[in-house]
Amino acid sequence: MTVGVYPGSFDPFTVGHLDVLTNAAGLFDLVYVAVLHNVDKRPTFTVQERMEMIRNVLAAEKLDNVRCGTFDGLLVEYAKSVQATHIVRGLRATSDFEYEFQIDAVNRHLDNSLRTVYFMASPGHSFLSSSNVKEIGLWGGSIKGLVPEINEDIIRERLARK
Ligand code: ADP
Repeated sequence: MTVGVYPGSFDPFTVGHLDVLTNAAGLFDLVYVAVLHNVDKRPTFTVQERMEMIRNVLAAEKLDNVRCGTFDGLLVEYAKSVQATHIVRGLRATSDFEYEFQIDAVNRHLDNSLRTVYFMASPGHSFLSSSNVKEIGLWGGSIKGLVPEINEDIIRERLARK
């Protein structure tokens, strides 16, 4: 069985993330979305909030072969714990490439049996990031079309309260 792990901050989960996840769900038998629990990153949404929103999307999109989990520490350890064969990441721009290139080298050093696959961002999502969504939402702009519809109200209200 092929198992992919799609790790990230997902603070919050965007339609760009959904695009990558849908591609991964078509490629692997089972995919784990792994929400990074890293206090140093000072996330806007708690791990619980981020996971709940991802689970809303999985149900709405009927992504039946996708599970949502959380991890801290080393990704390779989490990957091992769910018997993952591959890591999944998305690429938007050359700046992502530089970063991913380094992370891949580190992960191979830690576990050379794991390989990472990359999906290119859809043309319409190449400038979309969680940070953009937060910036727009904090200033009261429309986040319609940037995050999955099912979470639009939750994210808008939550950012307005900040
Ligand atoms: P991280 O903090 O690990 O970069 P993110 O939640 O920002 O977590 O991103 C998780 C993964 O999704 C990364 O591989 C990132 O490049 C990818 N990604 C983020 N936004 C998009 C997008 N709009 N299109 C495609 N991939 C994306």
